[in-house]
Amino acid sequence: MKRHSLLTLGLLCASAAAVAQGVGYTDTPQIRGQKWKVHDKDRPNPPTVKPAATFSHGAPAPADATVLFDGSDFSKWERDGGGAPKWKIEHGYMEVVGKSGGIHTKDQWGDAQLHIEFATPTKPEGESQGRGNSGVFFHGQFEIQVLDSHNNKTYADGQAGALYGQWPPLANAIKGPGEWNSYDLVFEAPRFDAEGKLTKPAYATVILNGVVLHNRKELNGPTNHRSSDPYKAYSGKGGISLQDHGNPTRFRNIWIRPLGEYN
Ligand code: MG
Repeated sequence: MKRHSLLTLGLLCASAAAVAQGVGYTDTPQIRGQKWKVHDKDRPNPPTVKPAATFSHGAPAPADATVLFDGSDFSKWERDGGGAPKWKIEHGYMEVVGKSGGIHTKDQWGDAQLHIEFATPTKPEGESQGRGNSGVFFHGQFEIQVLDSHNNKTYADGQAGALYGQWPPLANAIKGPGEWNSYDLVFEAPRFDAEGKLTKPAYATVILNGVVLHNRKELNGPTNHRSSDPYKAYSGKGGISLQDHGNPTRFRNIWIRPLGEYN
């Protein structure tokens, strides 16, 4: 998980620059396979879609799911860098304690379905990437962005629900500060051959509050800030990580189930 700790640190450091420069960049490299630059200032933002009030709120876990957080304890989690998480638990949710470090699951999965609910801070503070920023990472490498992008200008590929730095969401379906949102996510892990060559990229399906933001969208590599990086071979298994980006974002009702194989 060292890799993820470094990545998190990089994103933390980079956020200040993003705010200082406004709502995007002009000096970043082109995203591989796309006409846009990473965090392109000129990339159009998605349309806003007002979501349903409580879509999949409190969704109970299916029988084959692992409950990662039921509101009571961090037994399934550890802090990036080791040890128990230093985040708060109260009223059935966990809350990021800024600068205490991100957290990740002790267990690992390959292809998986994840349900997770989150709320951005009730008092909106900061702007662009500095407001209600966190993130859900698969395998410590692939971020589904968590951000208060409600009335908050930021670059398109950094919106809530973005495959950060690669694909903006198809819609901005985030709720207001302090309101609960639900993510229903499907992640297909990348595959590599014995020589470490990529044989199948990762794909992500993202539903935010009942609105499809990505439909099995191909990721072109691991998440990074201001760069577009190629895949690096790994086992195709990994944990779920939640990002400490310095904002008191909340999470509740988290469960995961592995995807089976077609016969
Ligand atoms: Mg983030």
